[in-house]
Amino acid sequence: NKIVKGLKANLLIILMIIAVIVGLGLGFGLRGVWTPYETRKIFYLRFPGDLLMNMLKMLILPLIVSSLITAMGSLDTNASGRMGLRTVVYYMTTTFSAVILGIVLVVTIQPGHKGSKNITKAGSPKEAEPLDALFDLIRNCFPDNLIESAFNKQVTSVGKKNVTLKSPTPSNITEAGVTMFEVDTMSVTKASGMNILGIVVFSLFLGGVLSKMGKDGAPLVKFFECLHVATMKLVTLVIWYSPVGIVFLIAAKLVEMEDLDAMFEQLAYYMVTVLAGLFIHAFIVLPLIYVIFTRKNPFRFMVGMIKAILTAWGTASSSATLPLTMRCLEENNGVDPRVTMFVTPIGATINMDGTALYEAVASIFIAQYIGQTLNVGEVIIVSLTATAAAIGAAGVPQAGLVTMTIVLTAVGLPINEITLILSIDWFLDRFRTAVNVLGDAYGAGIVEHLSRNDIVKVPEVDMEVPKEQ
Ligand code: ASP
Repeated sequence: NKIVKGLKANLLIILMIIAVIVGLGLGFGLRGVWTPYETRKIFYLRFPGDLLMNMLKMLILPLIVSSLITAMGSLDTNASGRMGLRTVVYYMTTTFSAVILGIVLVVTIQPGHKGSKNITKAGSPKEAEPLDALFDLIRNCFPDNLIESAFNKQVTSVGKKNVTLKSPTPSNITEAGVTMFEVDTMSVTKASGMNILGIVVFSLFLGGVLSKMGKDGAPLVKFFECLHVATMKLVTLVIWYSPVGIVFLIAAKLVEMEDLDAMFEQLAYYMVTVLAGLFIHAFIVLPLIYVIFTRKNPFRFMVGMIKAILTAWGTASSSATLPLTMRCLEENNGVDPRVTMFVTPIGATINMDGTALYEAVASIFIAQYIGQTLNVGEVIIVSLTATAAAIGAAGVPQAGLVTMTIVLTAVGLPINEITLILSIDWFLDRFRTAVNVLGDAYGAGIVEHLSRNDIVKVPEVDMEVPKEQ
């Protein structure tokens, strides 16, 4: 009876773990049968997975807008201001510490000086001016057209023409990041999809203004609160479909990937460096920070996030994982919804520890590989631009690879060399996305703990209670 109860409570986690295993098995199995594979077959195989990605992405817009407005509207301005400050400080420190960890590892292990010197290269990326990228980032915070920001549209750097990303078709089924390497011009800061950053900024301000309006703003806050509750109900439906989607996302990826042996052999040290960094950050650095601030068990917290972590691994997109991140935080880790609503949408958009670490390791690896020594000043530039590039990366598959051009350009490394690591990026992407999501989750836990005095002062989320100004 107890076992049945336990199974029932953890059914979804069990299904998700089975999904990953079945996906791996199916992928490797079909790989044996389908070589050389046909693009069309991959497209069909991926189809249930594409549906999952679409459903998750579809929820991002209502979820982000409704969460942020509800959270801002239900907190008084001082409380949300303090919470915002804590959130930003947490995001910046953890991202930067991930970068430092990455630099220490890549300088110690020296993956670029080890292993084969004949890495197969692919594709050709486009130039990125760091200054343009910075302007892009800021410009994206203030979209000229809110409706347009919700579309799959690219805003490109100064003087370049706009480009729309092709959606996957049988002839173009590479993941977003790789597809971008094939278009003419591109935005380095908004790697793909919607301008989520612009939507986040707008929602924060609208929520803030509504909160200040008190009783007059309450109906609109109530509207968004209702939208949030309804969206979360839709999330529940999609979550039950996610194991199916995960099986096929993983299987299709395995079938279409390049020769594994060669890849592992050529890039083994590089992969080990990135994975070691991500592992240390996820299992030591973040839990330690969590314990220091909250004095609670960080691993129990991590176990509570398993569904989100598996989804991040399966989808390679922290934005698409956002619905699950919120769910796990609220249901398994008991984090106050007002905190998750506020912290996680911002986190999924700008906080990417895994990506930051990865960008630092990858650019120094490239320098080592082509025999260019970076001086201390240049390493500092790498650390700063890697942090910025991670903030600028969208939470979509392989976005980090695209924003890495900023880091390379800043220290004068040839951006063409990105192609060295292209073949393995989809694999590392999954791990860094999982770390990105974990970082957002711990952030919510810590901010909630630090803000506990601020949030108890506010009555339970109930917009009928007019707030005093
Ligand atoms: N795929 C990552 C994410 O969604 C971004 C990256 O490419 O590093 O979080």
